[in-house]
Amino acid sequence: MNCIFCNIANQDNKNKKNWVFETENCCCFPDIDPKAPVHLLLIPKIHITSLQDIKNNNIEFINDMFLSIPKITEKLGLKSYRLISNIGESAGQSVMHLHFHILGGRKFDWPPG
Ligand code: AMP
Ligand code: ZN
Repeated sequence: MNCIFCNIANQDNKNKKNWVFETENCCCFPDIDPKAPVHLLLIPKIHITSLQDIKNNNIEFINDMFLSIPKITEKLGLKSYRLISNIGESAGQSVMHLHFHILGGRKFDWPPG
């Protein structure tokens, strides 16, 4: 399978320079097309299509992602931020590998468009 986020998660150390956080199970790096002053993506290191595909055999990856979020935001000094995971095309998911958007550094509208 040719998945851009699988490729990112499995790349050489020399290409990890822009990663802001990493554990055994997940990694976090800047979005290539930022929509806020801070716009990071947090992804599991195995291919999981979306949150719709959580299973007992991948729950440790999800668990680790959630535990990583406050560590990442604390590291960046983000006191308020938005966490988004688009699930499926009509919700706006364009990369079919689970990811959390971590957005901060500006005011956000509600509801989202
Ligand atoms: P979504 O539309 O919710 O699936 O989010 C996918 C996100 O991945 C978009 O915000 C893209 O800008 C971002 N993206 C796509 N390719 C890359 C890449 N190579 N590196 C970093 N971010 C990427
Ligand atoms: Zn993938």
